[in-house]
This record gives sequence, structure tokens and C-alpha cells, in this order.
Amino acid sequence: MKHAFHPPAGAVFRCQRCQYGCCARFKITVTCEEKDAISRLKIPGLPPAEQCFLPDGNGLFTVAKNSKTGDCIFSGGGLCLIQKLHGFQAKPAACQLFPLHVRHWLDGEISAEYRWICPGVGVEEGKRIAEETNLPAYARALAKLRNPEKAVFSRTLDPGLSAIRAVHAGIMKIMHRQDVPFASRLYCALRVLDFHAAPEMHEVIREANQHFAADAGDFLEKAKGVIAQELAEAPAPDALTRTNFRNYLCGLLRNDDPCDGPRIFDRISRAWTQVRIATGTGLLSELNPAAPAVPGAFFPVRQFRPGTQEAEKIWQDFWFGKLDAMHFCGQQSHHFSYEEGLRHLLIFAVLTPSLAEAFAESSGKTEIEKSDMLQAVRLADFTFSASPFFRLKSSRKWLKQLSQLQAFSSLLTF
Ligand code: SF4
Repeated sequence: MKHAFHPPAGAVFRCQRCQYGCCARFKITVTCEEKDAISRLKIPGLPPAEQCFLPDGNGLFTVAKNSKTGDCIFSGGGLCLIQKLHGFQAKPAACQLFPLHVRHWLDGEISAEYRWICPGVGVEEGKRIAEETNLPAYARALAKLRNPEKAVFSRTLDPGLSAIRAVHAGIMKIMHRQDVPFASRLYCALRVLDFHAAPEMHEVIREANQHFAADAGDFLEKAKGVIAQELAEAPAPDALTRTNFRNYLCGLLRNDDPCDGPRIFDRISRAWTQVRIATGTGLLSELNPAAPAVPGAFFPVRQFRPGTQEAEKIWQDFWFGKLDAMHFCGQQSHHFSYEEGLRHLLIFAVLTPSLAEAFAESSGKTEIEKSDMLQAVRLADFTFSASPFFRLKSSRKWLKQLSQLQAFSSLLTF
């Protein structure tokens, strides 16, 4: 297996020993070898090994939780006892990697991005996990824990990962052109995606190769004047686009997603709150207490206030991290095809800064500060791949409408 590794650029990490509690919240899966190695370590006060590791039926094991605190069984007052007594390298691969979100793909490539839900990401000083850890070795360990990731281009086209990566190299070429306005790059990427989605392009996609990136770069160069003109002439968002944008924004806020939760009254109540936000009257904070207390009518944002350099950097690290790692498609991303996933990511390029704008508005700031952007990307990151909301039929319908050229250009230039 070859291992082309795509580490996240930018942000550094330092654990804050926060209340979020990654050790309590996530299921930690270990291989049989890891279980045996940790069981041999001397860690006083623990129950027998068979109570620390619970078989999950696939030859793998889940680390048990402390029945009183709900924390990981190896947690000792906010400190990992394995690390404290035996060093970082003794911890399971899954724990050494956190807060990196690592995927290993069917073609042997390894991709990683940060989990922005961890408050230790994006701090002033810290370490780059990717540079300090042996990712290929961990990826091999992870490969034993789950099936490799694969992606299809669209619902009707499965040309294989190599062709998808060739197309994606072209999209990245467009999106990384720092000398072209970001809105123009987003619009250009959508136009290229639309062009390639046409049935008559299937053969071209199947045969996609390294020339795709150069062609995409040439297209942007030649079309950037026309694109700027089209954006300048874009209409204001119509009523449908406004409503769908607010609905999609609600999806971003429904991180505890009760849309398929157990209590029917809660589901109806939250659906009603969403309707009120979509029609402009409900407050975002009614749907999610971590969201700013601004009404749905605030969206789409008419004019963004300036952002500080720090806020811009957080945004770049967050959004480009997903783009570069291709962490927007595949089974871990709502089973989105490449095409659907990229549309989802393009909409998030408008949604997430809009949320940061709302945080700045709700605290009366004249510019978007780092803390506003951090709060926005933490909310966005949690739901980006995790919320079942984005798997709903209605949600996919909104995505389709919002990523039509006219609707998208109206959102970019409002
Ligand atoms: S979520 Fe992040 S900051 Fe909080 S305990 Fe876990 S690693 Fe540390």
C-alpha cells in the first residue's frame, strides 16, 4: 500500500483539558494488538483488562467508560493515565491522532484535517500533530479499524478514485489562486463542476488525468474577466434562495440532531423553530444555544464587516483543510458523491462566514474577530459531516437549488 499523506496546513493544537471531553464523548476503538499492549502496562486502580476493553464483534475492541463519571476508563482527573505513566506513544492510535481526523482511502492515500470542535485547535501556540507523529503507521493501524474510504463522482458515474483526484486537482488549482477574488474562485469551481456533471462529459471524467489541473487553471485565467462581470450583474437572492439558505443554515445548527430523535414533541417543536428561522422571525439560538441570538432575517448577510487577519487565518485553515483533504465526500460525509460533497463545501464557504458575521453582530463588534470565526467553524465542523440532517431528502433538495449558478452567484455578491 502506498501512502501519499496530505496533512492539514496551518493551525496548531494544544490540549486545553476542556469540558468538551473528547475522551468521554467519542467511542475509542482499538485493535487486539493495542488492547494486549495496554493490558500489559502497570496502571494502578483499574478493573481487570476484560472490563476495560469491550469486544465489538469485529475482532476490535471499544475502550470502556467509567460507569460513575462517563469518562474513558483510563482517564484520571482530566489526565490520561496511559500517557501519564507510560508516555504518549503508549496510547491507542485513535487517541494519539486526536484532534486530527484521518481517513485512509481505497487507493492507499491518507488524508487528515483538524476536528475544529476541539477547543485546542487554532490556539496561538501548540504543535502540529501531523509533523510530530508517524501518520503512515497510524493509518495502517486505522486501516484495521474500519473500511477504507472510497468515493464516486456522482450518482450515475463511478470512474474510480484516480479520475476523481485528477478532477479535484483542477478544482484545487482554481481555489488556491490567491490573486483572484475568493468569490470568483468559488463561482468558477461551481461552473467547472456543472460542466463536468453533464452526461456527455462522463467519458471525459473516466479518462481524467494530470492535464485536468492545467486545463482548470487555464480556464480560470481566461474566464476570470467574464466571471467578475457575471458576479457584478448577479441579482439579489430571490425568496426561494433566502428560505433555502436559512434552512441549510438550520442544518448547520442542528448538531444534536433531534430530527430523528426519540420524542415526537421535541421533533415537532424544533421543526417549528426551523420554520420560524427560515421565514425570518426565529432566533438561531432557539435552535442551538451555542449559536448567536440573531433572527433568520439576518441571512443571507448583505454586507460582511471586515475580518481580522487572525479570523481570516482560522477560516482558511478550516475550509481549505476540508478542500485539500477531500473530506467532503465518501461514506464518512453523508455518503455524498464527489459532486454533491463539493456543492456542500461551496455552500459552507458562504454559510460559515455568515455565522461568524452573526457572532460579531450579536456582540456589537465592528469587525469579525478570531473568536467569532472560531465559534462559527466549531459549529460548522460538527455538522459538516456528522449531522444526519444533511442526509435528508429535503436538505439535498435545498443543496441542489442553492448550488445552481444563479442562486449561488446571488449569495456571493449580495
Ligand atoms: S477536546 Fe481537545 S482540548 Fe478538549 S480535552 Fe480533548 S484534546 Fe483536549
